[in-house]
Amino acid sequence: MNANTLPGQPHIAYQANTLCMENVKLADVAAQFGTPVFAYSKASMLSALAAYQRGFAGRKVQICYAMKANSNLAVLQVFAKAGCGFDIVSGGELARVLAAGGAPEKIIFSGVGKTRAEMKQALELGIACFNVESEAELDVLNEVALSLHKKAPVSLRVNPNVDPKTHPYISTGLKGNKFGVAHESAVQTYKRAAALPGLAVVGIDCHIGSQITEATPYLDAMDRILDLVTDIEAAGIPIHHIDFGGGLGINYNGDTPPAADALWQQLLAKLDARGDGQRQLMIEPGRSLVGNAGVCLSDVVFMKPGEQKNFCIIDAAMNDLPRPAMYQAFHQIVPVSPRAGATTLVDVVGPVCESGDWIGRDRELNVQAGDTLAVLSAGAYCMSMASNYNTRGRAAEVLIDGDQVHLIRERETAADTFQGEHLTP
Ligand SMILES: *Cc1c(COP(=O)(O)O)cnc(C)c1O
Repeated sequence: MNANTLPGQPHIAYQANTLCMENVKLADVAAQFGTPVFAYSKASMLSALAAYQRGFAGRKVQICYAMKANSNLAVLQVFAKAGCGFDIVSGGELARVLAAGGAPEKIIFSGVGKTRAEMKQALELGIACFNVESEAELDVLNEVALSLHKKAPVSLRVNPNVDPKTHPYISTGLKGNKFGVAHESAVQTYKRAAALPGLAVVGIDCHIGSQITEATPYLDAMDRILDLVTDIEAAGIPIHHIDFGGGLGINYNGDTPPAADALWQQLLAKLDARGDGQRQLMIEPGRSLVGNAGVCLSDVVFMKPGEQKNFCIIDAAMNDLPRPAMYQAFHQIVPVSPRAGATTLVDVVGPVCESGDWIGRDRELNVQAGDTLAVLSAGAYCMSMASNYNTRGRAAEVLIDGDQVHLIRERETAADTFQGEHLTP
């Protein structure tokens, strides 16, 4: 696009002083659908996917979109049509994949607390693999599979104990967090799994964290997983596929994660060096496919100057954009139609009754009540984590494709938020 493209957001740019996504003016989206509204660029999602596809050219790989990042049906449909499978973490996500037209045989099921009902549902549909995270889960999955006269395909999620150098709440591959089985006991756990009649060992899995912006943790994890594969196969248990999880970061605020294709060139070189280059691979990217494809448009409700702080109160809140409150995360915030003149320092906050309800602190903005702001990098872990706190209906969502705008989720009404509740007689 042109020189006014925003950093890390190739499909969002100012054209004639108005912010556009692909060929659509975001001010028009806010006017047509109201605010807050999430807008996602289809081209941005597909170009993020293309970076992985380039990286894996000529290899055997199944890319499974980690759909908890953004599970709107139309987003899933984009990835399903592009050949992706899905990494799911609940029976609800499984139902979404089916509703979006995704193929069960390209689904992998992750998560530390799968219920028997979820296992049964996934076994009956014939998913590709259960990424098992504990010995207790192995036993229960074995029982459920035997009761259905099936064999459950399993990988063990191994905890390679590498530090992904990211926020502690989104680091998952260290000792001391709840995910995966310990590296040291992995061969033992594999032997146990191989001995259970209701299970078929098919692979190995790891996922070390999220918003990872360096290659080193991946390279270290790869070494540790490949060593383990050697040991497991030496114990007589063939490993059909290796799943390296997701976790690649995006540019929120000048972050410089490796590009997916460059990262995978380095990782695949390691596989090649061990003669493993043609092994079946799987990956589970989430954030890196959708994060920078989305913005949340929100109107300024009031400006509230104060003695210590100036507040810019917007109509989106922590229930729409939970990442700042949850992990002190940073989103760029820019005006949809910038005003000429000086900026002032403001805290951008929502209307929810919590001091944790801030969206951006100490931002230089020149805005007035009624202006529309765009909260950037809002395609991942925003709408999928949204809640109805303060009885706020969840935002609308649109998918932008060239000059087309598709409403892909209607704004929730107040009545929607208490649907299913009952008064007592
Ligand atoms: C969340 C998750 C992912 C995706 O992580 P991103 O950081 O969004 O790429 C992949 N695999 C598992 C098991 C996850 O829990």
